[in-house]
Amino acid sequence: MSPSVTSESSTIKIVVAGGNYAGLNAMQHLYSSLLANDPKTAASPRPNVEITLIDRRDGFIHCIGLTRGLTEPEFGADLWVQYSTVSWLQHPSIRIVLGTVAEITADKVLLSNGDSFGFDYLLIALGLSRFAPIGLRSSTKAEYIEEIAKSHALIQSAQSVAIVGGGAVGLELAADIKSDFPEKQVTLIHSRALPVPGPFKDEFRHMVVDILQEIGVDVILGERVVAQTPESGDMSYDRTKHSPMPETVGTMSSNAELTLASGRTIRADLAIRCLGTLNKCDLLQLPLAADIFGDDGIAVKDTMQIDSEHYPNIYACGDICSRALVKLAGVGMYGAYIAARNISRSVLATGKLEDGDRYPSQLMLLLGKDHFALQLGDEIWEKERTREHVHKDMGLLKCVEVMSLHKEPEYVSLD
Ligand SMILES: Cc1cc2nc3c(=O)[nH]c(=O)nc-3n(C[C@H](O)[C@H](O)[C@H](O)COP(=O)(O)OP(=O)(O)OC[C@H]3O[C@@H](n4cnc5c(N)ncnc54)[C@H](O)[C@@H]3O)c2cc1C
Repeated sequence: MSPSVTSESSTIKIVVAGGNYAGLNAMQHLYSSLLANDPKTAASPRPNVEITLIDRRDGFIHCIGLTRGLTEPEFGADLWVQYSTVSWLQHPSIRIVLGTVAEITADKVLLSNGDSFGFDYLLIALGLSRFAPIGLRSSTKAEYIEEIAKSHALIQSAQSVAIVGGGAVGLELAADIKSDFPEKQVTLIHSRALPVPGPFKDEFRHMVVDILQEIGVDVILGERVVAQTPESGDMSYDRTKHSPMPETVGTMSSNAELTLASGRTIRADLAIRCLGTLNKCDLLQLPLAADIFGDDGIAVKDTMQIDSEHYPNIYACGDICSRALVKLAGVGMYGAYIAARNISRSVLATGKLEDGDRYPSQLMLLLGKDHFALQLGDEIWEKERTREHVHKDMGLLKCVEVMSLHKEPEYVSLD
């Protein structure tokens, strides 16, 4: 179903809630098709459009590099790119609002400070919540630099570190700590027989365990942590209330004792729990679509409209969607591309909405600087083949390029 189009002369309001991989990439493609000058006419196709980007942060953060950002804070500092440094975001038809989305209804986005923003089209790209230190509490780059410096100091001063949770984040964090601080005792504890939950082969999981052991991480599998003293903030967190924001709740405990289900105890100068994510569907007050919100996020159509005939002008992309089995930056950016083009098509009344393709499940783990593992679909790649796709900066520059953060996006015609 193609949503209604407001008249040519009125200002059309587009709100993008969340401005990281998905939201910021959507901004780029909205800019290309609605605001950039068409070289043929030397004018933009739709000057009477107002695009509002709302985010609780003042910039893009390259989450993919965050584990190394904690072990190497100078590298970490570069991972945050302020919106104010992106020239095309300063376009007069773009407004950037630094604020926290508290509620989304059928026609407006409400912020925690009471401000509200009505929309004709909405793109929801709010991602997932994670607890600190991977979830970041900071809203400005200066706060962020201070935040990672504090986490780094805790890691640096610990002689022994225990990471609880063998998902992608726990694995990469354990590997980055051991690679940057080979003298530390690093232990990874995971409750199942093999790490890496998700649609992956056991052969891939074994490969990951072998790599960790090769770099010197002590891997304990099939052991659940049943008690921890002192407890970290996330252990008593009420996940049903989502308040305070998970990003403000810490998962690091100093001088920790962990008791495993077998009765074994592990002592560590620092324990860091990396135990998953929380979704943000509770921000959405769309009563006619209650059935499309699940634990895994919002159901969307292939057009990236939310999967409800009642709200054709509301789109969602990135980690907040239940679209992909494995939540990835690239999947979010691609969904954002489709969503932005479809919103632009509706605004410009240029015909039928397009469907996006589905990505095969994949996971590339960056396990320190010299080790990596990739499963793409059903295929496990050889190390040397994978190496060609690994960037020393963990893909920061590539993302900056793909999202045009250092250059003007070109005009793209949707005719
Ligand atoms: C350590 C780590 C390593 C990873 N490695 C990889 C990898 O190698 N490859 C890969 O493809 N993916 C990787 N990922 C996953 C990838 O980071 C996510 O898939 C990606 O961030 C999703 O993008 P998104 O835009 O949907 O959400 P996010 O990047 O989470 O962005 C959400 C945006 O919404 C804003 N926001 C959230 N809530 C609110 C609110 N209430 N009000 C206002 N603003 C809000 C946030 O500030 C943020 O800017 C990794 C993730 C982590 C944490």
